[in-house]
Amino acid sequence: MLMTGRDYVDSIRDGRQVWIDGEPVKDVTKHPAFKPMVDVRARVYDMAHQDEHRDVMVQPADDGEDCSVSWTPPRSKEDLHAKWRWVDAVMEDIGGVVYRLGDETIGAVWSLLDGKDVLHDVDPRFTANIERHIDHAHRGDLFTVSGNTDPKGDRSRPPQEQDPDMLLHAVKETDAGIVVRGAKYETAAAYAHQAFVKPTIANWGDAKMSDYALGFMCPMGAPGLKHICRSSLATGKNPRDYPSTSKFDEIDTLLVFDDVLIPWEDVFFYQHTQAAGFIRSMLHRYSALPFVIRVLHIADLLIGAAKFNAEQTGLDKQPAVREKLAQLGAWREGIRAHVLASIELAEASAGGLMMPHQSMIYAGRIHACSGLPNMMHLARELTGGQICITPDSETFEGVETKPWMDKYYTVNDRWDAEDRRKLLAFARDLVNSDHAGHRLTFALFAQSPPFAHLNAEYMTFDFDGPKRAVKKAADLSDKVMGNR
Ligand SMILES: Cc1cc2nc3c(=O)[nH]c(=O)nc-3n(C[C@H](O)[C@H](O)[C@H](O)COP(=O)(O)OP(=O)(O)OC[C@H]3O[C@@H](n4cnc5c(N)ncnc54)[C@H](O)[C@@H]3O)c2cc1C
Repeated sequence: MLMTGRDYVDSIRDGRQVWIDGEPVKDVTKHPAFKPMVDVRARVYDMAHQDEHRDVMVQPADDGEDCSVSWTPPRSKEDLHAKWRWVDAVMEDIGGVVYRLGDETIGAVWSLLDGKDVLHDVDPRFTANIERHIDHAHRGDLFTVSGNTDPKGDRSRPPQEQDPDMLLHAVKETDAGIVVRGAKYETAAAYAHQAFVKPTIANWGDAKMSDYALGFMCPMGAPGLKHICRSSLATGKNPRDYPSTSKFDEIDTLLVFDDVLIPWEDVFFYQHTQAAGFIRSMLHRYSALPFVIRVLHIADLLIGAAKFNAEQTGLDKQPAVREKLAQLGAWREGIRAHVLASIELAEASAGGLMMPHQSMIYAGRIHACSGLPNMMHLARELTGGQICITPDSETFEGVETKPWMDKYYTVNDRWDAEDRRKLLAFARDLVNSDHAGHRLTFALFAQSPPFAHLNAEYMTFDFDGPKRAVKKAADLSDKVMGNR
């Protein structure tokens, strides 16, 4: 059933325990730190009910029931294109970029379907839970987030030799399920419905069984769950001076599992390190696509701000400025090319889904994320030093200061002082604010750190083609083609 924005808001008023700035939050839907993003998420739910957006937002399930495009497991290239259109429509409607809306985390749950046979061989008790949960999120229109990262503590010591809760683990089994302790970092958890929680560990050593090897779905209002949130970046910021920060600050949470009961029917794997390691290796096979599309939208904002500023000041006539704008454009087109190619070369998965071409989308993720800091800096350079020295909106309105602001910020017939102020404020928020830095860090880490991005490419790139080329060109013998 497709939720409305109202349904969504009501559904997260479930008595969840949330704190921010050391204070308990009575209602996340009303608290100023969360309300802007709750409103954005509610707006996205409402879009599915509006005639002008319906085609892009809604996709009938097999039995004809209306479901969100975002939670529909992809079975064709067209389904992957539909996901791209969904992101484009949402970003255009909200007038900015938001990463965590669930469409770029639900893919980790679909990847369980591709691992179903392996998980079944390891421990058949939980296999049925996979399809049921995929269906539940799909039909229930559930905003699903992702919990991978534990505080971890001292990495040189196993968790048993320090506070064992540094990594999430099972502490007890009951007839009803397993009781878990530990903590995870999760963006948007405080205003989401549920999270797919799984281990951060990639290397289990020789251990075949571990209480730390567990993956499950957990509702965000589960008893014992404590959302301890970072401070809002928007507090004390005037929306006229910080247009993105004030609307799109996606609050991150330290989600403490203080003896939380996970019913057996919500468990995907338990104790078997082989299952945990296997799932970890395929976590982003679907979710990398909408994540990289987000960076494409960030690229557009960087380019738009830089180009407007260059046009405003007449600097776009300078060949050297054009070259820099072209560099931004080439980076952006590189991201688009990877996204497009990954869909056009899409691969059928073991679970019968259609996944973006793996090596191509992972290469796109590396291109997008590793290029972002440089491109952000180039946009900062092109928008000029005035973005960080321009007075705030109140100065532009002050009786005594306004005439000076009008005089020095009116550039020509097309750009009056107010539009120039707005562009400079937007650009400052995009590249220089706390929120800009936070988003840059998000792109660096949210789908695991750069070394893991490179490892994903290494594991999916087909090295045989280049090896064959060198074998032929260097006239090597057949025996060199094995892999050791
Ligand atoms: C804004 C933001 C939002 C986030 N949201 C979520 C979320 O929603 N859900 C979630 O699960 N997590 C989330 N994370 C956490 C994120 O996944 C982790 O920050 C990331 O996986 C890195 O873990 P860490 O911070 O513990 O860094 P560490 O593990 O301490 O690593 C720090 C650095 O050490 C190096 N390093 C560590 N291990 C290795 C290795 N094996 N090989 C090579 N180099 C290594 C790398 O340079 C790495 O970047 C978020 C993070 C940020 C910043």
